[in-house]
Amino acid sequence: MKTYPYWWEFFKPYHFKNCEVSNTSFDLVVVGAGYTGVCAASQASSKGLNTLLIDQLALGEGASTRSAGMVSGGLNLGKKINLFKEYGDEIAKKFIQESINSFEYLEDQINHHHDEVSYQKTGRLVLAHSYKKLEALRIKANLLNSMTNLDISILKNLDEEIVNSYYKGGMLVKNAASVNPSLLYNFFLKKALSNNVKIFSPCKLLSYKQINNYYDIVTSEGVIKSQYLIIATNGYSEKPIGKEHYNIIGVPSYIAATNVLPENIIHTILPKLRMYSDSKNDLYYFRPSPDHQRLLFGAFPIWAYGMENSSLVKSFFIKKIKQILPNIGDFSIDYIWGGKVGVTFNTLPLLKRAENKVSVFGCNGSGVALMPYLGYQAANMLTTNQNNDLVISQIKNNKNFFKYLIIKFLPFLGFYYRLKEKIENKIL
Ligand SMILES: Cc1cc2nc3c(=O)[nH]c(=O)nc-3n(C[C@H](O)[C@H](O)[C@H](O)COP(=O)(O)OP(=O)(O)OC[C@H]3O[C@@H](n4cnc5c(N)ncnc54)[C@H](O)[C@@H]3O)c2cc1C
Repeated sequence: MKTYPYWWEFFKPYHFKNCEVSNTSFDLVVVGAGYTGVCAASQASSKGLNTLLIDQLALGEGASTRSAGMVSGGLNLGKKINLFKEYGDEIAKKFIQESINSFEYLEDQINHHHDEVSYQKTGRLVLAHSYKKLEALRIKANLLNSMTNLDISILKNLDEEIVNSYYKGGMLVKNAASVNPSLLYNFFLKKALSNNVKIFSPCKLLSYKQINNYYDIVTSEGVIKSQYLIIATNGYSEKPIGKEHYNIIGVPSYIAATNVLPENIIHTILPKLRMYSDSKNDLYYFRPSPDHQRLLFGAFPIWAYGMENSSLVKSFFIKKIKQILPNIGDFSIDYIWGGKVGVTFNTLPLLKRAENKVSVFGCNGSGVALMPYLGYQAANMLTTNQNNDLVISQIKNNKNFFKYLIIKFLPFLGFYYRLKEKIENKIL
């Protein structure tokens, strides 16, 4: 069994440098070369800033080539059902609009390149683990339908969608899609290179301080001076990025990819070939591979951190797949890999300018469309002053100085939700 992403068979992250960094100066340094950083650097460079992009790992080795590649049209920012209660109608509507803008931005970027990134308009089915959750999804669907053209419907009967007795119904979002996340990364990377972005990987940000009107940036490869700084480190954010790292936690999530299944199995168990996720905090998400030959199944067994190779993790996935898709028949697991999902303490993305530094992170699990867009907007914030009305940049973000304690408690939280949602599935 392989413990790297299935997607790396199509594009594998690699080390790369096309410049020197030690004792150099740039207009802008972007830290973190995932979707966010690559799109920020690409946009800034295209607007004339001499831009350096660095990453402590190989290019794309963070979450961007590890996801399930589900592209949601407007669901990500609207994930919180209480968005309207907490922030009021006007802000909530603007949030949802920005989320839709991110989907449109992605579609615009990859226009005429659908095959290159395996983009498929599949729709997305959010499955309710209890009748109570189905009702919550119905309220959400009504809200979103009243203000968007996402074309959302509630399915009480799932017979045509999934052969399964576990879920009680679902919310179908027709205007949603799928992609091969690694190919999408390569697509953005090639664009950044053609926009003349200077890149150095691996190169780790160690610390930085502002001196007059520039930043003195200490990295593993030497000291760099820069007028502007963009921090795009998402779930991999740690102390070197500054106090903003107290805004975000990297929550480990894992995906298993099955062997090539016998012909027609995928069409039997998931006849509509959509993207699927469920309503639990102890979330499951699954999809067919783009060639419809394998099943990819994601979950949050947080206790499994760093144990991708263990038989315990493998049997966890086998058990869950059989429970959710009982008609799958005989199968084995060919790949298991993990990645860190950037979760903020208010579960909304953060895009914040402080002097000449912009921090941009917090995908909260839905970043394939959102994070390239926010990277692009982060660069616009520096090159123009036109984006100060972006609603995301106006939200107050919560820091939590108990971050490291919370990380230790995550497996217990995972256990609590597993138990709670198992009971909800039986009785609510
Ligand atoms: C298992 C999994 C499944 C997912 N599934 C989906 C999905 O189906 N749909 C969806 O929309 N989203 C999904 N996501 C989320 C999505 O992958 C992310 O939102 C997106 O990739 C975030 O991109 P990014 O550029 O912000 O972060 P990343 O790609 O994580 O990039 C951050 C980079 O910062 C670098 N970095 C950190 N600190 C430093 C430092 N000090 N110096 C230099 N570099 C540093 C890291 O090495 C990393 O490469 C999933 C995530 C995971 C982990």
